[in-house]
Amino acid sequence: MERAVRDAAEEGLDGLLVTPGPDLLWLTGYRPTAITERLTLLVLRRDADPQLLVPTLERPDAESAAGAEAVTISDWRDGDDAYATAAPLLLSDGVYAVSDSAWAMHLLGLQKELPDSRYSSITERLPMLRAVKDADELARLQAAGAAADATFHEILKVPFAGRKETEVAADLARLLREFGHEQVDFTVVGSGPNGANPHHEAGDRTIAAVDMVVLDFGGLMHGYGSDTTRTVCVGEPTAEMRDVHEIVRVAQQTAFETVRPGIACEEVDRAARRVITEAGYGDQFIHRTGHGIGMTTHEPPYMVEGEKRLTVPGMCFSIEPGIYLAGRFGVRIEDIVTVTADGGRRFNDTDRALATVH
Ligand code: ZN
Ligand code: ZN
Ligand code: ZN
Repeated sequence: MERAVRDAAEEGLDGLLVTPGPDLLWLTGYRPTAITERLTLLVLRRDADPQLLVPTLERPDAESAAGAEAVTISDWRDGDDAYATAAPLLLSDGVYAVSDSAWAMHLLGLQKELPDSRYSSITERLPMLRAVKDADELARLQAAGAAADATFHEILKVPFAGRKETEVAADLARLLREFGHEQVDFTVVGSGPNGANPHHEAGDRTIAAVDMVVLDFGGLMHGYGSDTTRTVCVGEPTAEMRDVHEIVRVAQQTAFETVRPGIACEEVDRAARRVITEAGYGDQFIHRTGHGIGMTTHEPPYMVEGEKRLTVPGMCFSIEPGIYLAGRFGVRIEDIVTVTADGGRRFNDTDRALATVH
């Protein structure tokens, strides 16, 4: 919290307003059981101690959070005006960065109560502190990655042909839990033409022979995320399938090899995109190359053209180029990578060659 306030002050901010979500969890260990319309607000000011305002009924949970001793907790009761209760915790004309996940109704309520206060996005502040992981966080991300890899090894043994995507997705979810995940966030099974939609989850389509199948799955283990993708083929792939898969594999490898401290995030995207573009599939690589990961499975920084932020050791993000041939099939290969002192290290390391399933 001290670092966060110092960092905000350097940008001329009076403080940070943190609402439930990964920012609050990272700072205090407090995760409200349900994020609701009731205002929960951590106020971090450079000129005052941290204050956490919670609904009265949530107070026992807030008090039992790991970081509770570092904040002064106050509460408001149903029927009170939450924003009038919060107002004295803020400077009436202060400038604050607000959590990205804050509900608009809460921010509008505060603005109405404190018309001379001003608000800005927190994205460049707290989430960028969170982006650089410490040793304990790296160990958790590595363990989550290993569990996702174990899941991939096992999914290669289940039948694909003749089963629905949703059935294979259920297998992925079951395996992630068996290998230690407490939460499954997504289990993409994109078979045949569905694989050409990068965020297709899983549907009723029955998987058939010579389908390419995009498998993209992850969730949280010990509070930290996993997210990996491999594309497999049901039976013997065609020459085109092999070619497209190989282009994506080389793009992913090339992007990984660019990772080292001090490069702009966009360089990771460029490295992957160059390979795919030179192979003639630039228009079919329709998303950024990667995203940060930590207490959530998608968070800043993003590996995308225009992101000039420099990588530093401890940053963790995905490298996941893909080629999507509309109406036919898609290929994506994704690993989570961390920046080390002199390069990059993968948290996913299952075989990236095109695997065959049955
Ligand atoms: Zn995604
Ligand atoms: Zn993914
Ligand atoms: Zn991803």
